[in-house]
Formats: sequence, structure tokens, C-alpha cells
Amino acid sequence: MARSLKPHPNPLPRRGRRVDSCELRINYELTKMNTLLDVHTHTVASGHAYSTIQEMAHEAANRGLQILGITEHAPGIPGTCDPIYFRNLHVVPRQMYGVRLLLGGELNILDTHGTLDLSEYYYRKMDIRIAGVHSLCWEGGTKEENTAGVEAAIRNPWTHIISHPGDGTADLLFEPLVLASKETRTLLEINNSSLNPVRNKEAAEVNNLEILRLCKQYEVPVILSSDAHISFDIADYRFIWPLLAKTEFPEALILNDKPQAFLDYLGI
Ligand SMILES: [Zn+2]
Ligand SMILES: [Zn+2]
Repeated sequence: MARSLKPHPNPLPRRGRRVDSCELRINYELTKMNTLLDVHTHTVASGHAYSTIQEMAHEAANRGLQILGITEHAPGIPGTCDPIYFRNLHVVPRQMYGVRLLLGGELNILDTHGTLDLSEYYYRKMDIRIAGVHSLCWEGGTKEENTAGVEAAIRNPWTHIISHPGDGTADLLFEPLVLASKETRTLLEINNSSLNPVRNKEAAEVNNLEILRLCKQYEVPVILSSDAHISFDIADYRFIWPLLAKTEFPEALILNDKPQAFLDYLGI
């Protein structure tokens, strides 16, 4: 049986920010959630990440995960793997050190029409498909146009999860995205990495709070992701816990401790 992650010894979201004792207490309760999956991570194949698949799987086992998703960047990101990487994924065992691996890609939402990179030929080779906006390959427009682009990606039947919709790269209206997420069962991700102060994504906290409030209001499940680019960051959600506490987000709407419900919800 998998063990739960221990609460991180330093759960404070921002250096110097005051956290009242009530918030800390709720934090502590949430961090006891039995984290069994992290489905958005990267390996050396992505070109700016630092662990191999085996190192990632080994660390996922150490941390008691049942499912690890490895989702390499698609070709819109400089220095990532060539398309042939996705074609050859059949050689990799889907079970390592007792952890089930979901091997796939993080596709790029390229424009306000929701165009994704790669093609169906490659999507079929992937166990899991995440799609997200990245500044290196994104042609945006007005807030409404950006929202239409991300909504089109949500409605794309190949998309399982939208990565870091709240990171501020594209200015977005969240209510239509949350409603589209509910309708299509494409999950919106709450991304730990974009909340890390070192990334300087100033809108990330307020945007993710808004997404969480809307998901709570409309009863839409979410997925927490580390977006780990090295094994040590797997299933590290330390910057997300305070936001869950602040919104009093229902544990029932978080899929990270419900592997079968996660797979069923996405039809994987
Ligand atoms: Zn990356
Ligand atoms: Zn990303």
C-alpha cells in the first residue's frame, strides 16, 4: 500500500508572507491527502529537464505514487524531442518499480483557434495528452480571443488536461473555460511550478485562486501537477496547498488521491 507524502517542512508559499495559524492548520490537513498520482512531468528528452525515465519512475515509487505521467514537450519548444520520440514510446515498459507510467506529451496551443502541434498520428502513440500555452510558441490576441483558443483546445477530443491555464502567459476569462472543462471532462491543471516564486509569474496566484473558486462553485474536478523537470520535484505540490486552503477547496474535487476515478474520468 502506498504511503502518503509527508507535509513539506516549509509549507509557506511566499518568503516573508504572513500565514495565519488557521491557514497553516488547513494546509496541514490538505497535505495529508494521500497523493497517488502526478501526471505532468518531464525527462531529459524535453531538453531542459534533468532526469531519465528510470530515475523519475524510481523516485515516484519512493514517494508512494501509483501513477506517474511523463509528458515531454512537443516540438514548438526549442530543444525538445523530435516527433520520432513519440513514435517510439512503445519500447518503454508501462510499469516500473511498481509504478504505472502514462507516457505522452505536453502539446502546445499555438494560436487563438486552439491549433495544437504534432498530429493525430502521434497523438495515437501517447497514453496521455496535455495541452498548454507557452510563450515561446504562442500567437495570442485579445482576452476573448485567447479564451476562445484555450476553449477550442479543451473541446479538442484528444486533449486530456490543460496545463497551467492560470500561469498568466495568456490573459484568459476563466468562467467559460471551467464550464467547458465540466462539459467535456478535460481537466484543468493547478500547476505547482508556475506558482513557484522563482518563476516570477505574477498573475499565477490570483488566477489559480479564481480557477479554484469557479471549480468549487460549478463542482468541476481538478488535477494538481508538479510539472517536475527533475525527479526531486515529483508530486511536490507545496505552492498549491495554501491556495486550496484559502478557497476551502473540496478534497472530493481533487483527483490526485483517486487513481481509478482519474483514469475513468479521462477514459484512459
Ligand atoms: Zn518545460
Ligand atoms: Zn508547460
